[in-house]
Amino acid sequence: MSDIKTGTGSGKIHKSESEWRNELTPVQYAVLREKATERPFSGEYDHSFAPGTYVCAGCGQTLFASDAKFDSGCGWPAFSAPASDAAIAEEHDTSHGMVRTEVLCARCDGHLGHVFDDGPGPTGLRYCINSAALKHRP
Ligand SMILES: [Zn+2]
Repeated sequence: MSDIKTGTGSGKIHKSESEWRNELTPVQYAVLREKATERPFSGEYDHSFAPGTYVCAGCGQTLFASDAKFDSGCGWPAFSAPASDAAIAEEHDTSHGMVRTEVLCARCDGHLGHVFDDGPGPTGLRYCINSAALKHRP
């Protein structure tokens, strides 16, 4: 008997660290696999508001829609909501002496950024996401 809980049907992606290292750029690897944060105002998508969707740089899953993107002024791409609740996972993060909520890709467990509750939209949420974790699809 198996108790399979797959919301999307796509299943999880598991790769070795060396596989990820081969597939990702050094910056993508540092962010997605080592939970690095790119320097503020340095990311490719910080001030890009082209329509389309943003997919995971690690596995290609759709994470955010451009409709939800807003200019937070914080130096990283900010979204008011994910494309779907099933697309992302959240973890309690107490690193660096702060209490934050980490946002991960639900499919490949890649680190995306953090979510804060000071957003302007109806959700009141601000998903602060590294550009390096995203790929824009027009
Ligand atoms: Zn992913």
